[in-house]
Amino acid sequence: LSQRIDASDMDSELGQMVAVLNETFAKLESSFDQQVRFTADASHELRTPISVILAKCQFALMRERSPEKYREALKTCEASAQHVRRLVESLLELARMDSGEFRVIRSPGDLAAVAESCVQLLSALAEEKQIELDVDLQPARVDMDFDRMHQVGINLISNAIKYVNAGGYVYVRTYSEPGAAVFEVRDTGMGIRREKLPHLFDRFYRVSKERSDEQNSTGLGLAITKAIVDAHGAEIDVVSEWGNGSTFTIRFPL
Ligand code: ADP
Repeated sequence: LSQRIDASDMDSELGQMVAVLNETFAKLESSFDQQVRFTADASHELRTPISVILAKCQFALMRERSPEKYREALKTCEASAQHVRRLVESLLELARMDSGEFRVIRSPGDLAAVAESCVQLLSALAEEKQIELDVDLQPARVDMDFDRMHQVGINLISNAIKYVNAGGYVYVRTYSEPGAAVFEVRDTGMGIRREKLPHLFDRFYRVSKERSDEQNSTGLGLAITKAIVDAHGAEIDVVSEWGNGSTFTIRFPL
């Protein structure tokens, strides 16, 4: 596949056909490379929590332990198994998206209703982390798949809560502007360095290992979010400054 046909001394029609063929080869090669990388990354991500489960089971079975030690081992196994489940669910979702099976089913709705429902679901989590969750929800009517946009809202707001320290703020806004309906999530968290921004929506991308709490992070949330936004013909944009918070904005063209 990596070999190209040399079209330099062919007549122009044949030369053009060969150029198209070469371009098709290049695209195939690149999607094949991406698939190989994706499989390798997915295997690596799954291997870590599975190794933790295995090690904890071996530790518990090696000899008699105190009830507290068994409990501790079981709790770690439970957290790791939950992480495996989250990963597998996200991987299945992405596989469905890649296979073209994924469709958004649109009907008239309001992004404000999406945001309100997400905030209601996540307010207890924000409170637990001592984070102020504020809203300003103006009507922003669009044709959308409510459940899918709800998933997007949950991803963005839960990320904001995850990456803000106690005492910080998360603001959720919806509004209409000429030609667009907007859904925005802003936080006062640690922000993202400029050079990292272009990779943020890549599969398995994490800004840093230390920052992403291993058990809670899959690095797939934003990739899924972007795929859903793209399927709506909308756009997602992030503005962020290191140490100064981030703003994720989704614009639906009207
Ligand atoms: P994860 O499961 O790791 O949160 P995501 O795909 O949702 O995966 O996010 C990818 C990475 O982007 C995260 O690991 C984190 O480093 C960074 N990130 C996402 N949202 C924010 C945010 N609001 N503030 C700072 N960093 C963020």
